[in-house]
Amino acid sequence: ISFADRYKSLLNTQEDGITNSTQPDSNILTESNDPHEKVDTNMSQHQNRTDSLCSIDEGYETEVMEQCAIQKQIDKYSQTRAGIKRKRKRHARNSPPKKHCLNTSHAKDLELNDGGVVPGCLGSKLRSYQVEGVNFLYSLYVKKQGGILADDMGLGKTVQSIAFMSAILEKANSAKSDKKKKHRCVLVVTPASVMTQWINEMERWTKPFGGFKVVQYHGDSYNRIQARSKIVSKHADVLLTSYETFRKDQKTLNSVPWTAMLFDEVHRLKSPTSQTSKAAKMMACTRRYGLTGTVMQNKLEELWNLLDWASPGILGPIEQMRNQFISPIQWGQRIDATDVQIAISRRAALLLSQKLSTIVLRRDKTLIAHLLPEKIDRVVFCPLSDIQNELYNRCLELPDFKLMIQYSDPCKCGSGFKSGQCHGAWTEKGVEVRTLMLGAVASLQKLANHPFLLLPNPNHSEEKQAKDKAFAEMVLADRYEDIAKQNMKERLSCCGKLQILARLLPEWKQNESKVLIFSKSTRMLDVLGTFLDDLGHSHLRYDGSIQVGAKRQRIIDQFSNDPSIFILLLSTGAGALGLNITAANTVVIFDPSWNASVDLQAQDRAFRLGQKKDCRIYRLVSAGTVEEAQYQRQLYKQQMQSITLEAKKEKRLFSGVQGVKGQEGELFGMSNLLKQGQSTASIISRTQSLEETWKKAKENITATASTNAEIQDEAKQLIFSKHSDEYIQGQMAEIDKKLNEDEKVLSAAEKAIAAKKKEEERIAKLLESGGVKYSHTNSDVIGESEFEKEKSSGVVSDVYGEATISQEKSKKTYVPVSKEQKEKKDEEKKKQNALQGSARLQLLLSQSGLF
Ligand SMILES: [Zn+2]
Repeated sequence: ISFADRYKSLLNTQEDGITNSTQPDSNILTESNDPHEKVDTNMSQHQNRTDSLCSIDEGYETEVMEQCAIQKQIDKYSQTRAGIKRKRKRHARNSPPKKHCLNTSHAKDLELNDGGVVPGCLGSKLRSYQVEGVNFLYSLYVKKQGGILADDMGLGKTVQSIAFMSAILEKANSAKSDKKKKHRCVLVVTPASVMTQWINEMERWTKPFGGFKVVQYHGDSYNRIQARSKIVSKHADVLLTSYETFRKDQKTLNSVPWTAMLFDEVHRLKSPTSQTSKAAKMMACTRRYGLTGTVMQNKLEELWNLLDWASPGILGPIEQMRNQFISPIQWGQRIDATDVQIAISRRAALLLSQKLSTIVLRRDKTLIAHLLPEKIDRVVFCPLSDIQNELYNRCLELPDFKLMIQYSDPCKCGSGFKSGQCHGAWTEKGVEVRTLMLGAVASLQKLANHPFLLLPNPNHSEEKQAKDKAFAEMVLADRYEDIAKQNMKERLSCCGKLQILARLLPEWKQNESKVLIFSKSTRMLDVLGTFLDDLGHSHLRYDGSIQVGAKRQRIIDQFSNDPSIFILLLSTGAGALGLNITAANTVVIFDPSWNASVDLQAQDRAFRLGQKKDCRIYRLVSAGTVEEAQYQRQLYKQQMQSITLEAKKEKRLFSGVQGVKGQEGELFGMSNLLKQGQSTASIISRTQSLEETWKKAKENITATASTNAEIQDEAKQLIFSKHSDEYIQGQMAEIDKKLNEDEKVLSAAEKAIAAKKKEEERIAKLLESGGVKYSHTNSDVIGESEFEKEKSSGVVSDVYGEATISQEKSKKTYVPVSKEQKEKKDEEKKKQNALQGSARLQLLLSQSGLF
């Protein structure tokens, strides 16, 4: 082989590598399609190469040969390295980011951006995002404005607001001296159940700098008069009261010139017509601050009321908010929305979130993800048992239910009116159909969990019991006695969820997990209690009937400390808020709520700071029943919240539009609750198949492209640097060593992943054996999707042009390419590259002066 050939072959091998690696990035995914630009950059690369190659004259041939050998090594290296990178990527997806250190060593006072000062002993304990939160509140305070801190649960809203108050109250040494201080007092309103917790928290955080003088405004009139006198005589920093007392005594409280007001769990003010909300709006103080983990509980209109309290007029009248934001956002979030609707929706969301960002600060748990173990939030759609299925269908066949299901359909008489406004308005017994709906939904919910719940509750009034008995006899018919008896066999055969639970319990027991089981119904807890007794699983129970205070805490302590106790049964009402039960790492939500936040709060009893083990959540939803609709509405609300507050490009799952007649889709309206609705599985799969087609097409193209580009860069650096052979050999050895170390780390990680995968498979098998046809993890459904992101920015720039929205970087919309199209494109690209390559080679060779 001649010298020149070898030289050419060397260049060609490099050529191939480089063109292959840069091709997908520059040609398909970005807009820089200008061939001149491309040739230019490639030319400068070649310029560098000729520089280093031309500097060699003597011994050039051997040099080239060695370089060929090195190229081989580089190829080999590239291959291994690509493998490692792939593994690493996989690993990164499956493991939490590295922990970072918190600087708590110094206790210098914390100076806020707008002049406030937080005492060092408190300020130094704040995490950086918490400092940001305090800054946010204080800057509003300086502007005499109100605002809402809407961080996720667990991010420390309380400590942020205490630090904020310490700045207002000028508690830091470096704040003004005592004599110059004006008397200041903050009104803090909280739910009655967490007042003690607030006192404890304030004590804990403020003690090092002398504490707040806190006065409780609560209880009988004597207590309240006493408290008032302390305010008047300026002997209090903070007046703490409950929502109920606040509502009753609003006038009295309004006579105090408050420095600021702080409302905890401020979503209590969501309804514009509630007395509490009206009272809060009548307060003269304009520095109004609210804390909540769920700014939006049910619908976007509620958000308006909260913000209109915090900063009156900021969103204009409610109609304006509806026309400008709510309606466009909802229409564009439908799965079958047109491109224009999507564009309008995404733009409205962006404008709204920008507007809101001035007075609402919301951060989610990803901020502390590095401090938390992993959580898998599994939603399991459990089949009804045969008996349940029979009873559920029988219920839907009842004449009253039929009237309710047909309520919105046109009346059969042909009048053109809805059935509910015509012949279907009254039942045979002369009851208004409309008034029966809530009761009907409740009955279906009971059946979806356990037919036993339909039986009259001995704690209810006799009248109610008689009514319930009549209904139960109608539905349960000949099974009434059996179900009332509740022996083990009946209990299990009557409840699909218990059958699933019975399969999962041994698995959890074997893993030495401790389990929390939440249910909204205390009677369901009764059934669960006897069910666990039958199986011989030790358990405790925590519900509203247990006295608030020491007795409740004893149960939590006993559960946490006694290793022999496996399960804690909790009523969602009493146990979902405030409790800290990190001893448990498995949480079962036995029945779904209407509100996503309730179920998430229940999970947070175990999944919170201090939890050391990975958490497994099981939400049991009865497939094909009203519970699916409940869960679907949870999804919708969760999405709406993140769209409005953070302009997130959530997946479009549903076709319904909340609050619009005729647009109920699969989601809203009574009839969707009362009939066997569209299953969540099919709803999710519509969106999934849409997104997966896109993802696959994209993955094919980008798969290892970026990885290859990086590796080639490394290789290039090595081969084109003017280093000695020893140096290069040394580098290669270095890399080999690193690779080996990486392999070790990775194989450990791979083992962990494999173990997890095994667990997943085991659980999947268990669920399958119980008849579960479908389950998903909540995080797979909720959250932004890459598809929506690209789709959104594409349609937004199409409809509005690129300049209208500066934040929206206009990217070229990615259009999925079919395999044939791709092959054709690749063919063309190869040809083009070959042409370009030979042209460049000629240019290069002529420049080198060798030929
Ligand atoms: Zn009619």
